[in-house]
Amino acid sequence: MGQRKPIVAGNWKMNGSPELIKEIAAVSAQVTSEQREVLIFPPAVLLSEAISAGLECGTQTVSEFDAGAYTGEIQASLVKSLGANYTLVGHSERRSIYGESNEDIANKFAQAQKNGLTPILCIGETQEQRTEGKTEEVVKQQLVSVIEKLGIASLVNSVIAYEPVWAIGTGLTATPEQAQETHKYIRDLLRSYDEQVADALRILYGGSVNESNSELLFAQADIDGGLIGGASLKPQSFKAICESAKG
Ligand code: PEP
Repeated sequence: MGQRKPIVAGNWKMNGSPELIKEIAAVSAQVTSEQREVLIFPPAVLLSEAISAGLECGTQTVSEFDAGAYTGEIQASLVKSLGANYTLVGHSERRSIYGESNEDIANKFAQAQKNGLTPILCIGETQEQRTEGKTEEVVKQQLVSVIEKLGIASLVNSVIAYEPVWAIGTGLTATPEQAQETHKYIRDLLRSYDEQVADALRILYGGSVNESNSELLFAQADIDGGLIGGASLKPQSFKAICESAKG
């Protein structure tokens, strides 16, 4: 297995402030190292400020279109020109609240890469799907929709975030064993397309990660760091989570 440098990424959702940017920038400077990458996904209106504060950043979504009459949308080329290098695509809130389909998300993934942004593709099953035993089927379909459209090579410049929907913002974290089981499934599935791509790809876990559970989660063989929501708004918690990700 190749060496994979872990990522700890903070998804602020529609939260945060210029003050929080300063606090998190100070934390990030302390914990960014050879051991790990630290990324922040602030609201788009705070992106310039976050980049100026020295944070490595991305947006929480991007438009699938190049430019034009798309009121309210976020243009990938402008995100890149501001100095951001990443974007989330397919976060479960985008899927469930804004109705983004696997096809929309594949288009956003392509648009991000076309403009030099690394997409972090978020996938994961709902509680109902898990109860029905459909976890693998759901994450497979979410991944395959990108692979069928863009090819397995498109995953070279990407990151996957496995986020069981039932664990996001609920305080219900997947156990390290549950998370590892699905991460291994994802990596094995990708290995069936291309072993090198699968071995090099970073697969983050997301869903109620905090400073008490991050160490065990990140210690799992196929978990390469985390996508952190609520705890990324608390500088000391975020710092401790970052420190538990070791390359
Ligand atoms: C998220 O929004 O991606 C997330 C994982 O949130 P939380 O950590 O709050 O569950």
